[in-house]
Amino acid sequence: MSNQLSDRINSVTPSATLEMAAKARELRASGQDIIGLSLGEPDFKVPDYIREAAIQAVNDGYNSYTPVDGYGELKEAVITKFKRDNGLDYEASQIVVSTGAKQALYNVAQVCLNKGDEVILPCPYWVSYSDIVKLADGVPVEVPTSIETDFKMTAEQLETAITPKTKMLWYSSPCNPSGSIYSEKELRALADVLQKHPQIIVVSDEIYEHINYGVTSHASMAAFDDMYDRTVTVNGVAKAFAMTGWRIGFIGGPTYIARACNKLQGQVTSGANCIAQRAVITALLESPDRVRYMVDEFKERRKLILGLLNEIDGFQCNEPEGAFYVFPDVSAYFGKTLNGAKINNASDFAMYILEHANVATVTGDAFGNPKCIRISYAASQEEITEAVSRIKSVL
Ligand code: PMP
Ligand code: GLU
Repeated sequence: MSNQLSDRINSVTPSATLEMAAKARELRASGQDIIGLSLGEPDFKVPDYIREAAIQAVNDGYNSYTPVDGYGELKEAVITKFKRDNGLDYEASQIVVSTGAKQALYNVAQVCLNKGDEVILPCPYWVSYSDIVKLADGVPVEVPTSIETDFKMTAEQLETAITPKTKMLWYSSPCNPSGSIYSEKELRALADVLQKHPQIIVVSDEIYEHINYGVTSHASMAAFDDMYDRTVTVNGVAKAFAMTGWRIGFIGGPTYIARACNKLQGQVTSGANCIAQRAVITALLESPDRVRYMVDEFKERRKLILGLLNEIDGFQCNEPEGAFYVFPDVSAYFGKTLNGAKINNASDFAMYILEHANVATVTGDAFGNPKCIRISYAASQEEITEAVSRIKSVL
């Protein structure tokens, strides 16, 4: 039978991060010794106090459907978190809890975009942004940046990218994949441009907020009074609390957008998992200092991996200020043939080191930057050391 699938799904690219992780898993299952540095997944256990809250919820008999936008107590905990960490004042009607930040982003795209609306994505951007936008019939508009500007979009670049069709700007800070952080001053410069274009809604993805190495303080676009009414702040527990599989993310934003997300979610997934929601109340109400030990360890790993990568000829790295990725420019290898394999681009490069060094990374193409690869250092120091030594030896 010919392909009976919709044009919509046929136009979607599979998630490169998840695809690479699946490939690494498959190769491991077939007996190969693969080091996985492809997935952005902390390798820590969920902290005890959060696990205990989940066990308590099971024993307390939480098993029913939850309100579509999340338990009232969880929304209160999200409000407390936004106020405590970001200085943002939200009411319960402005909060929606979803099945991961990914669903939160998907909801926002679906409820804000009409066919042909343009969404500005500073590159590199998180892998799923462009496909989530396309699934909502929007048009991703990529704004290239480079290592020279620490992979950040300038106010001038934003101004140039805006057209009468621009409906949204999406970015993550700290950024996946570059680890760059927009300072308050840099965000203000972007906000000043946006003042001239009141139709543009901003999605500020702050899921790596707590994974910050102390050079640039975290800043939220919605904290500017003149941006509050048109910014959706996205966050979640996957990264800072090592709770990737628990699938809880949330937004704070204008009430009309939150209501629309609630309506959409009510027809698609209903409320997020009830046990995970109960555990996240505890995660958010406890001080973020309780998970600081993971950030301290990531900081050590960052130092280790940057030191090792900088010893390899042809790797050009920025110094990530947050998140747990390095995004080296490896274009010096393009056009070369290594061990009989021709390297034409970043995808070839990532495939080459998977096949020859048994190290899984992700091509920068998936993040809108064809010169780089993404390496996750959410792995032990032993694995990082071994992985980079293997990469070095096959180059
Ligand atoms: N935004 C960014 C920048 C991410 O790296 C991720 C990956 N987890 C997400 C959103 C999605 O998060 P979640 O796992 O909560 O769906
Ligand atoms: N966000 C993580 C990453 O970038 C997890 C995988 C995914 O959801 O794409 O690797």
